[in-house]
Amino acid sequence: MSGAPSTAEDFPLDRLTTIRIGGPADHYAEPESEEDLVTLLAWAADEALPLGIVGSGSNLLIADSGFRGLVLKLRGPLAEVERVENVVECGGGARLPSVSAKVAGWGLSGLEFGVNIPGTVGGAVRMNANAYGGELGRVLTRVSICTAGGVREATPDDLGFSYRDSNLGQGEVVSRAWFSLSPGEVEMIKGTMAEMRGKRKEAQPSGIKTFGSTFVNPNDERAGGKSAGMLLDETGCRGLTVGGARLSQKHANFVENFDSATAAEVLKVMSEARHRVHAEFGVILEPEVQTLGDIDWPTDWEIEE
Ligand SMILES: Cc1cc2nc3c(=O)[nH]c(=O)nc-3n(C[C@H](O)[C@H](O)[C@H](O)COP(=O)(O)OP(=O)(O)OC[C@H]3O[C@@H](n4cnc5c(N)ncnc54)[C@H](O)[C@@H]3O)c2cc1C
Repeated sequence: MSGAPSTAEDFPLDRLTTIRIGGPADHYAEPESEEDLVTLLAWAADEALPLGIVGSGSNLLIADSGFRGLVLKLRGPLAEVERVENVVECGGGARLPSVSAKVAGWGLSGLEFGVNIPGTVGGAVRMNANAYGGELGRVLTRVSICTAGGVREATPDDLGFSYRDSNLGQGEVVSRAWFSLSPGEVEMIKGTMAEMRGKRKEAQPSGIKTFGSTFVNPNDERAGGKSAGMLLDETGCRGLTVGGARLSQKHANFVENFDSATAAEVLKVMSEARHRVHAEFGVILEPEVQTLGDIDWPTDWEIEE
């Protein structure tokens, strides 16, 4: 390579997450084109630097010690939205609620569910994000993926979608995504979105620092079909507090940073809640939240079956 690309050093990451927790990254950059992105990925590979991609940081817990590698956040043209007839092309860094609102204004239906998912398009693809029966895979037609080796295209079938997961690995960045939508009445689409927003407001806390669902819903018959939130609720976890972190009074599966919480405090609340659910139901809850950096899992985190 001709030289190191320009990166910021010792860059604070807490402000890039919705829970506002985490130490600094050794290196940080905001690529605005696929070319820049590939250059940065190739540099990180050459330097053997670990790689972290941050979208809206809405399902991300970053270690208090930060990240000893390169963190990337897509900006500029890699966060824009364009339309050609019923097909919408989004940069991986485009915010899903803005995309939903924009396409609704264009009279295009299929992305209404994104109104309540405060992540980016790339993060939503990586996490197979969904809400209220809307399915990303139903409207997604293809994505561009950047790696240290270049850019390739993939279809939803290539992405191995499963519940809140895909097969995208470290070093694979969703730089663009295409959605095929259906024409619809603007007012009807906006009405559906308003209804979804209303339902969400009733069920979940708003205006708090959180990363959304902490644990995935268990696929375990001992749960008796109950969601993670229900199991946590039934084991008295609402309001469970460690330091500045607590499980929300309104939705027990949401951790809230109510007073300068650290990642260590969040992990302790998660561990305590997990033990309570295991003790009462025999179910082991697994995190939905993704982590970045050297996470210090509490010593009692592991639970024997
Ligand atoms: C209040 C609230 C409500 C929520 N409701 C929902 C909901 O209804 N349904 C739902 O599914 N989720 C929900 N979430 C969780 C979250 O919004 C989703 O998981 C979202 O898809 C994460 O996107 P992000 O851009 O914030 O990703 P981040 O949190 O920044 O990152 C999550 C993971 O995706 C990776 N990633 C991010 N961008 C890219 C990219 N361009 N290419 C490759 N990998 C990438 C990251 O490296 C990380 O591993 C909610 C969160 C909050 C805070």
